[in-house]
Amino acid sequence: MEEHTDILVAGAGAAGLTAALALARTSFRVTVVGPPDVGGSARTVALFDGSIRFLDNIDAWAPCADAAAALRVMRIVDRTGSIFAPPPASFPSTEIGLDAFGWNIENQVLVSRLADLARAHPGIRFIEDFVSGYAFERDCVRVRTKGGEAVSASLVVAADGRSSPTREAARITTTTWRYPQVALTAIFAHDMPHKDTSTEFHTRQGPCTFVPLPGTAEHPNRSSLVWMMSPEEADRRAALPAEAFAREASETGLRHLGALRLISQRGRVPMQGLTARRLTGARIALVGEAAHAFPPIGAQGLNLGLRDVAHLAEALEGAAAGDDAGAPARLAVYERLRRADVGTRTMGVDTLNRALLNHHLPMDFLRGAGLFALSSIGPLRRMAMREGVLPGMGAPRVMRQRPAPVNT
Ligand SMILES: Cc1cc2nc3c(=O)[nH]c(=O)nc-3n(C[C@H](O)[C@H](O)[C@H](O)COP(=O)(O)OP(=O)(O)OC[C@H]3O[C@@H](n4cnc5c(N)ncnc54)[C@H](O)[C@@H]3O)c2cc1C
Repeated sequence: MEEHTDILVAGAGAAGLTAALALARTSFRVTVVGPPDVGGSARTVALFDGSIRFLDNIDAWAPCADAAAALRVMRIVDRTGSIFAPPPASFPSTEIGLDAFGWNIENQVLVSRLADLARAHPGIRFIEDFVSGYAFERDCVRVRTKGGEAVSASLVVAADGRSSPTREAARITTTTWRYPQVALTAIFAHDMPHKDTSTEFHTRQGPCTFVPLPGTAEHPNRSSLVWMMSPEEADRRAALPAEAFAREASETGLRHLGALRLISQRGRVPMQGLTARRLTGARIALVGEAAHAFPPIGAQGLNLGLRDVAHLAEALEGAAAGDDAGAPARLAVYERLRRADVGTRTMGVDTLNRALLNHHLPMDFLRGAGLFALSSIGPLRRMAMREGVLPGMGAPRVMRQRPAPVNT
């Protein structure tokens, strides 16, 4: 027996589950297919103010908030050894009128709490299984799960990550590239408080970033680490005993948190970039890393993915029951809303990363002068902070608004 749904979301990661929760607020019936990945990856995601507004608006932030730490100050410290190295720069969120730039949360905690919300949602059918096959037809997409369920949908939302089988099945091609870097991730307990400050140490092999996490009874001071380095260094550091690894991380971070103690597994992620040539096709829309991926610099990845989801919900808004969720006109709106943001962020992160990896003096000068100008020229600094948090032009409406108070 084949069941029909208006929208099928493939992938139950952060982007897919948020898509299911947001799209269930339209008039469409939603099915999400995928086992939520809640394995211990030691990865955290810093979600900016606009993303928090969006999650709040779909009642998905309150259940996550206790597991997140505020990011009130961003610091950049140049450790490249360049003769043009600028002094450390600090960017406080109050300067752009925000209590915090955003909040940092363990990815697996976020996914597991969003999955709980999706399971409890009366408007969502949640099939916790892999999709094993697709047939794209004129009026619908036929989907089969590994366990043998058959579902047809008017629209498939591909939220199944960077190697997206859904995107492949729809024959949407990608441009991909690699960086000579690997990111090691870890969670540390430390002696000194983080003071709600995220600090990015720029090294010749990439940024080494410490991001605040909330304390626990056992570990009152905790932070996560994303440390980009050459694959050889990553292999060496991944094999170090925990104490030696913590010591090297602490030294790279100039011991600003005091002594570090490793309290998680170490994660290892090769750095790659990807953009899909199109974000839509016949009866398909791509969101999250199925559409774009780049290195974790400036905490842009999932924030961009949540903007995809918010814009997709905007494109499907106002539909009546019985309307076609996969109507080409709606997908064209989504494609138009997303192109500039995805292109600009992908290029911005790529340029920043390559500037760090380039050891030539003129580039060192440009990088040093750029950071110095950003930190010392007030209007420029505020513009960069605002733009880092949310694009000044064309951000989804919901990310600009606070949710209306709920009448009880
Ligand atoms: C080290 C690191 C640090 C980062 N830090 C930040 C940060 O601070 N802020 C930020 O905004 N972003 C950050 N990012 C980026 C962010 O983690 C990603 O953008 C985000 O996790 C992508 O979510 P997603 O749901 O699109 O994809 P994924 O998390 O990859 O989820 C895809 C899901 O699809 C499922 N799937 C795959 N195939 C199938 C199938 N056949 N059927 C059903 N399901 C399937 C997978 O199992 C998975 O659950 C970071 C990334 C890294 C690597």
